[in-house]
Amino acid sequence: MAILKTEGLTYTYSAGTPFEKTAVDHVDLCIEEDTMIGVIGHTGSGKSTLMQHFNGLLQPTSGKVLLNGQDIWADKAKLRDVRFQVGLVFQYPEYQLFEETVAKDIAFGCKNMGLGQEEIKSRVLETADMLGMERELLERSPFSLSGGQKRRAAIAGVMAMRPKVLILDEPCAGLDPKGRNLMLSQIRDYQKKTQSTVLLVSHSMEDVAEFTEKLLVMSKAKLFCYEDTYKVFRRADELRQLGLRVPQIASVMQSLRKKGVPLPEDLYTVESARDAVLALLRKGAASC
Ligand code: ADP
Repeated sequence: MAILKTEGLTYTYSAGTPFEKTAVDHVDLCIEEDTMIGVIGHTGSGKSTLMQHFNGLLQPTSGKVLLNGQDIWADKAKLRDVRFQVGLVFQYPEYQLFEETVAKDIAFGCKNMGLGQEEIKSRVLETADMLGMERELLERSPFSLSGGQKRRAAIAGVMAMRPKVLILDEPCAGLDPKGRNLMLSQIRDYQKKTQSTVLLVSHSMEDVAEFTEKLLVMSKAKLFCYEDTYKVFRRADELRQLGLRVPQIASVMQSLRKKGVPLPEDLYTVESARDAVLALLRKGAASC
């Protein structure tokens, strides 16, 4: 079932001035429940502007955003509720931590929702567990944590509100490869557990190949496509024309196929490529 829809969504910054810029141009989308989605596109293609429409931070210049079939701007009094249902985590969210303890910071959004003490406590603990944050951290000042743990505390505050849609803008910016992988695995586990829809804005083709089911591709303010991740990576030449690329491992597999190695298509992750190469080697050994 669709959770979020856009109809002819268009947004123009500084309309009617010499600085006018249409950042999102007639975008029609239908986003399903319970899905892990990557959002990709060149810098300036309109990703961030589009995401800010999903929780009503920006109001369309024309067109509509529908959450559960309801136009989110039909009744402005309900926008607060929209922001509880669609959580948005900006880049480097750790700069927004401000409470005395990590637990209080994670609880902040839940308090605003008016949840009871017990419910808040159980959500804080459950979310901290999902993100692998040890209990002992919860009573510390957020400012005493490491960079990765601060980032987790900030993301946990939005996750604890259990939004139906969670949007994360480059949640791994600045993390090392091991930290990136752990963070993305935890976000995927959260998505599975809560059966929510997660939109992951990313510049890393490797990350979206490994962790997402669908890709939303923006190009020059237009929606280029929204489809299964593996189908998008089949369109390598078109992606290249947009200044994007397929994951490196996919290029390596394609070069091998061109040299006559009988590898299957749709190998976009290191694991799937490794399994395919090992299967070929085993087949070769068996036929010797
Ligand atoms: P992305 O997230 O893909 O990098 P953005 O949505 O941030 O793209 O930007 C899309 C276009 O809108 C860009 O050309 C950008 O310069 C312009 N833009 C973004 N924010 C503003 C703003 N506050 N005022 C004017 N133009 C903006």
